[in-house]
Amino acid sequence: MDTSLKRIGVIGAGQMGNGIAHVSALAGYDVVLNDLSQDRLDAGLESIKFNLTRQASRGQVTGEEMDAALKRITTTTSLDDFGDVDLAIEAATEDEQLKRKIFQALCPKLKKDALVATNTSSISITRLAASTDRPELFLGLHFMNPVPVMKLVEIIRGIATEDRAVQTTLAYVKQLDKTSAYSEDFPAFIVNRILLPMINEAIYTLYEGVGNVEAIDTAMRLGANHPMGPLQLADFIGLDTCLSVMQVLHDGLADSKYRPCPLLVKYVEAGWLGKKVGRGFYDYRGEKPVPTR
Ligand code: NAD
Repeated sequence: MDTSLKRIGVIGAGQMGNGIAHVSALAGYDVVLNDLSQDRLDAGLESIKFNLTRQASRGQVTGEEMDAALKRITTTTSLDDFGDVDLAIEAATEDEQLKRKIFQALCPKLKKDALVATNTSSISITRLAASTDRPELFLGLHFMNPVPVMKLVEIIRGIATEDRAVQTTLAYVKQLDKTSAYSEDFPAFIVNRILLPMINEAIYTLYEGVGNVEAIDTAMRLGANHPMGPLQLADFIGLDTCLSVMQVLHDGLADSKYRPCPLLVKYVEAGWLGKKVGRGFYDYRGEKPVPTR
């Protein structure tokens, strides 16, 4: 086991934060999980138990490994309990002001050599690093959703990030049995920079009437061997999230090729945000998903 990190602190117990706590504890790290209220922490722990139980039922982890992982996780509503963490990973709501406030409150509580990472999908790592007292030990650690299943973690360094922070983080990702891809700090990093324009183009293809929902998804599943069609994937990610990544690309790179499709904007305005609300490019309220166009 990589011995340079022993204790991981995770801020935010939502879908990403509880996933990061889950995989870290399973890999043998002690974890302290923080959120605004005990209710949210309890909900995060429930998700971890549910997901571990599912992994156990599939034979991916043993009962003992599951119990040991759960014992390694403690919860807290106070950052005072982050004094002995070696790496703090922020996975709170995607809001730059909120994240800045978290780092300002967090840094004085940390050991002076503790690493700090953010799981942000879109905010500049260099800008967030500037709100900490340790830009040289700050980096982006972008896990994919759902964390226990997806093998990739993007590692993003800010302008000041030192090699030792990157090296230690690479070893941590390896210990999680995941693979890292290194990205420079540009809008949306690698995965979303490539994936979201493809999804946006699929929505333009629908908007222009080149194909309907079913034709576009079938074409990309069977013609490009994608496991899921782009419109189904957009529903899974959440159309509000897709729009926000396109806006970050459009604003950050100032190139018209990233213009969000007006049909995507319309779906978001309608509140048809995808699977999480029961309707997006498909309607999920019946027995099986039905295309909405
Ligand atoms: P989420 O809404 O499920 O969870 C966010 C959690 O942060 C909530 O439990 C909330 O109570 C908590 N929180 C808010 N303010 C806090 C504070 N001041 N202190 C402690 N906790 C606080 O969101 P999520 O999907 O888990 O996303 C979290 C981060 O991960 C975001 O930066 C997002 O961009 C990034 N991300 C999301 C995905 C995805 O597919 N959902 C993928 C990769 C990265």
